[in-house]
This record gives sequence, C-alpha cells and structure tokens, in this order.
Amino acid sequence: MNNMPLSFCRSVFTRFCAVFSITLALVSTNSYGESQTEQAKRLASQLMIIDTHIDAPFRLTRDYQDLTHAAPRGEFNLPKAKAGGLDVAFMSIYIPAKHQTEGGAKALANQLIDSVEAMVGRAPDTVALGLSVEQVRDNHKKGLVSLAMGIENGAAIEGELSNLKHFYDRGVRYVTLTHGKANLISDSSYDKNRPWGGISPFGKKVIAEMNRLGMMIDISHLSDPAALQAVELSEVPVVATHSSIRKFIPGFERNMDDQLLKALAKKGGVIQINFGSTFLDHAARSWQTKYTSHFKAYLAENQLDRFSAEAKRFTTDYRKQHPFPYSPIERVVDHIDHVKNLVGIKHVGFGSDFDGVGDTLPKGLKTVADYPALIEALLRRGYSETDIAQISSGNLLRVWQAAEDFSNKR
Ligand SMILES: [Zn+2]
Repeated sequence: MNNMPLSFCRSVFTRFCAVFSITLALVSTNSYGESQTEQAKRLASQLMIIDTHIDAPFRLTRDYQDLTHAAPRGEFNLPKAKAGGLDVAFMSIYIPAKHQTEGGAKALANQLIDSVEAMVGRAPDTVALGLSVEQVRDNHKKGLVSLAMGIENGAAIEGELSNLKHFYDRGVRYVTLTHGKANLISDSSYDKNRPWGGISPFGKKVIAEMNRLGMMIDISHLSDPAALQAVELSEVPVVATHSSIRKFIPGFERNMDDQLLKALAKKGGVIQINFGSTFLDHAARSWQTKYTSHFKAYLAENQLDRFSAEAKRFTTDYRKQHPFPYSPIERVVDHIDHVKNLVGIKHVGFGSDFDGVGDTLPKGLKTVADYPALIEALLRRGYSETDIAQISSGNLLRVWQAAEDFSNKR
C-alpha cells in the first residue's frame, strides 16, 4: 500500500506514473512551496482514506434523510464524503443489545443492509458497494466512494453459525463480536456480567467460521480477556474498528491497553482510532459519566422516555450549565502517536464512530468532510506522506487482504 501509486503505474500508465511519482517526491519536500493545508487537501483527495466505523444506517432509522444528497443533519453523507476525500466508508450495521432478549436482531441487520444497498441504488455514479480489497481499489480508481459493511454486535446471527454465511453473502465484511452487553459469543467491556470469562464456546466456532469465510474479526467493545482470546484464536490478524487508547482514560476498558495493543500488533492487526472526545480524553469521559447519571435520574423521576422533548430540553440546559470539554484535533494524533511509539505505524488507522458518538467530536473534526484537517494535524506532527498513506488505508487493507487470502486458501 505504501507504494500503491507505483504499482498502479507499473500495470497501467508507466510513463505517466514515473512523472507522477517524481512529482510526489518533490512535493513531499515542499519544493512547490505548498502549505501544509494545501498538502493535506491534496493528500486527502489522492490517497485512499478508509473509515471503519460510521453509524449512519442506524441513525437513519430514527431520523431519515437521503444521504446521497447534502443532508442537514448527521456527520456522513456522500457530498461530505467527497469533500473530505473519504473513499471507503464502513457502514455500521448496529444491533442494540436489547434485541438479544427481545428478538429481531437478524431482521434489523437485514433492514440496515437494505438501506445501504438503497443508497448505492440511488447514486450509482457516486457510490458502489465495497466487497473486497480489489473492489475498493477499483472503486477508488474510478472515483467512486465505497460503502463497505460491518455488523456491530454478533447477536445478529441469533446463535446460528449459518447466518454468518448469510451476512457474508449480503456483503458484510466484519463482525464486532458483541456490543454493550455480553451475548452468546463474548463478554463485553461495558458489562459487569461476564458469563464466559472471555469468548464463549460458541464464540470460538464463530471465529473459526469467520476465518473460513474471510470476514474480519472486530474486537472493539470486548472485555480484555475476550479481546486477547479473539486475537489468539483467529488464524489471521484482527481489527479493533473503533477503539482508542486506554492510557488517556485510565480504567476505561472500552479503550485498548498496552498489553492488548502488543498482542494485536504481534499478530499483525490494527486499531482504528475512535474520534469521540469521550474516547480521547479523561475530562470528556468524566463529563459523560456525570451527565449520564443526572440524565438517568431525571428520566426516572419524571417517568420520561430518553427521546422525549423534555429529555432533549434537559440535555440542552445541562450542556449550557456544564459546557462539554471537546478534545482538540491534536488529541487524535496523540493516540496515533502512542500506537506508533509502542508497536509501530503499521498497526493504526481511522475508525471515527461518526454518527455514533453524539455531540462529542473534537473541534475541527466534526464530519467526514474534515479528514483534510486530521491529515494536516498529522503533517504538523511530522508524519510523512508514506506514513499517512499507511494510516489512512494501507494498514486496514493489509488486514482485510489477510482475511481474504486465508479464506481463499481453504
Ligand atoms: Zn460501538
């Protein structure tokens, strides 16, 4: 991936690319007098940018908008993706934990997949499904945004191994083994109840079947023992699609600690950094904890639904009295630095959690149109163009390719 422009050239436009590569080399030394802002914009449009976690499909179930056009609300839509240089957007097929007890998990996953397909159907000149490494590369060359899919919460398979093949055939390329609560597959970082002490016996079969099919295993949301076991059990590198670094929020198990990072990297895996301030900074996490306890108490006292108008008003007033401590965009770079310094640059990428973390995004990194600002922050920190190409897509493509290769060999 570092040499993607070069390999692309060799096969197709040898002469054009020789000139193009020289141009790139010159620009990286700033001999064009390009400012870092201009350089970042150019990189965002030239390089492939992959974001492994965007919660747009579930968001639409409560607030429908046509995301193939500029939409007034939300953090992802196609014009914004184009403006920000986002090339591969993993749409999260998110299954809330309540479906584990109430049922309807598989049906909801199918509906959310339908909504992604519908977007492609409405804008075939702008967007295409991203079903393989080769296909997302092809789409990128054609200037199409790829919509790839990952299921967030293995509860979608409803305890049936054969449903993994069903969802693979529908285009799903990763599964986050569980979400906020323990499910049939795994314990969760957010759940004190830990029935399995890690991955369940059924979960071990799920991992083997995902390896066989060529689906990536996502360890975000897992308890530490579950995540470590998943790394070990998988025959190929795994991914944390939207997690950040625990060092910045001590005790927050939803983020990865150094032991887990080392295990992930040793196996060749990648952590895709979550942009929510409550994943980046201790101050934002404590704000969130306090707010949540006040909010829950208010709902209980007044017997209100969390989506009611009164609940909304409570949040607006609370935020006025207690301003939210948004992280600076540089904090995302701090998390990337930590991975680079601990295990190397080959093990980190972007997993924004756009449309999933509410109004907590860092200053200057509010939507998918803002990747150039993040790239500029990386340039300011001294990351090279080659480094940025690895972070923005090369590392994730390596993990995806390994999953495909293992499946094809069998
Ligand atoms: Zn999540």
